[in-house]
Amino acid sequence: MAIDSAMPSPLGPPACEKDAKALQFIEEMTRNVDSVQERVLREILSRNSETEYLGRFGLGGATDRDSFKAKIPVVTYEDLQPEIRRIASGDRSNILCSHPISEFLTSSGTSAGERKLMPTIQEELDRRQLLYSLLMPVMNLYVPGLDKGKGLYFLFIKAETKTPGGLVARPVLTSYYKSDLFKTRPYDPYNVYTSPNEAILCADSFQSMYTQMLCGLLMREEVLRVGAVFASGLLRAIKFLQLNWQQLAHDIATGSLNPKVTDPAIRECMSKILSPKPDLAELIQKECSGENWDGIITRIWPNTKYLDVIVTGAMAQYIPTLEYYSGGLPMACTMYASSECYFGLNLKPMCKPSEVSYTIMPNMAYFEFLPHDPSAPPLSRDSPPRLVDLVDVEAGKEYELVITTYAGLCRYRVGDILQVTGFHNATPQFRFVRRKNVLLSIDSDKTDESELQKAVESASALLREFNTSVVEYTSYADTKTIPGHYVIYWELLVKEPTNAPAHEVLNRCCLAMEECLNSVYRQSRVADNSIGPLEIRVVKNGTFEELMDYAISRGASINQYKAPRCVNFTPIVELLNSRVVSAHFSPSAPHWTPERRH
Ligand code: AMP
Repeated sequence: MAIDSAMPSPLGPPACEKDAKALQFIEEMTRNVDSVQERVLREILSRNSETEYLGRFGLGGATDRDSFKAKIPVVTYEDLQPEIRRIASGDRSNILCSHPISEFLTSSGTSAGERKLMPTIQEELDRRQLLYSLLMPVMNLYVPGLDKGKGLYFLFIKAETKTPGGLVARPVLTSYYKSDLFKTRPYDPYNVYTSPNEAILCADSFQSMYTQMLCGLLMREEVLRVGAVFASGLLRAIKFLQLNWQQLAHDIATGSLNPKVTDPAIRECMSKILSPKPDLAELIQKECSGENWDGIITRIWPNTKYLDVIVTGAMAQYIPTLEYYSGGLPMACTMYASSECYFGLNLKPMCKPSEVSYTIMPNMAYFEFLPHDPSAPPLSRDSPPRLVDLVDVEAGKEYELVITTYAGLCRYRVGDILQVTGFHNATPQFRFVRRKNVLLSIDSDKTDESELQKAVESASALLREFNTSVVEYTSYADTKTIPGHYVIYWELLVKEPTNAPAHEVLNRCCLAMEECLNSVYRQSRVADNSIGPLEIRVVKNGTFEELMDYAISRGASINQYKAPRCVNFTPIVELLNSRVVSAHFSPSAPHWTPERRH
């Protein structure tokens, strides 16, 4: 495709030659969305025509949409589990994909308590890289001068494991940061980070965070944007500063590195960066020692133009706290992606969080949309759902996203509900509405109703010897604390008041609940410290009846009323909090190792 970089982009005047190409690419893709989608499906189906999976449904080498839609079922992760297990245990035959599976990406979505394993192929890295390469050209349209400074981004890798068949299993960002695409990326003045690769690639979260924060402080005046992948991650960094600023200021004053940072690669690289800077240390001391952390981000990094963090979906709960710490800086949600596939980007990244829409890039995968109607009966094999194509979605309507990827997922339900907000050229733009079946989420954890129910059941077994039972419960994601934590409200029936469960017993109930929760939750508690200890708040008898009265007074039907299993409406939370008789916390971290339980 010939690109005339002199041509002004309909999105706005590009900042440089490279940006012009990227913006032109976005234009091409979004204008020709349907033909791109047709080509993507054709490519995927023709290269995978010999796979066991497509063969099973008798596609017979067809690559057109009609045959594909008529023959290939819409599936969930659970449907694919037998195939995924075989790949994990070392079967290298062409099961889902004709290209060799290079690794598994471990999703934060779980199945039976463990991270979902998403098979991926080498070339997907390039596809992800392509989407990343579009982000700055779009941002440069709105924020000039980003080549004059650096980005302070808190980026982390996580533990990886091997499947029984020897494939690496790790989160998608860990895979990306460890790839040469990231490690040996060419210099780009618009994409200079304060964090050295050595810090990002250190698996110890304390040492990594400490070094990244230290570098951010040392280069405070150069920092033009501050970010993390998700809002929760940025708040964790601020909390880290709260807890560690004295040591950080000491290191800056003396030009030495905290002995707790032992990673040789970090020590080597920091020895070149550190030198005594007493004035800077004093400034940090002055800003951080006060009680008031209002606007701390702009006080420490005065040239910050925006925060680069996802605050859509479950992360919206952090917007007020981020506004507080940043003195109201704009928050840019730049992209929408998952382990299964990177989907698209926000073409107006400086818009308000409530107005964020993502434009799906049609070259990333083949996208279909299942009209989302909560009142419709569940899908069955006999009445296949009618899915619509990317160009056929209607403004205002909600859909569940279904993808067919180069790595071999076919008509796979991601579980995200999206609403069409408009179009860029012929390509629809979507607001992220929510992920299905998520009750509680603090970081990337996603706890559903049945997981919570099981956890409550398991914990309440500890109450049996005290002749006590849990009569009602609900939950709340408390994000006022950093890190946030799960709060579970319990109403108890104590049959023998003289034998009521003691404080320690209820503390143990908190831990018993945590032990029951999925591995992403436990990893966040143990390895990432991104979720605080679970809390049980015992409420007065009759509280849940009051809750029901309140709901009925607001129009709920008496016959159909069920206690909500999660609350976030302020008056309800306040009512519950005003009836608390005792609060209990998990006394220790639950069990977690990178190895899967099954
Ligand atoms: P994972 O599989 O762990 O990579 O998580 C991917 C999921 O995170 C997506 O399916 C969404 O539910 C959520 N997610 C990713 N990007 C965004 C975004 N920009 N806004 C809201 N939710 C997002």
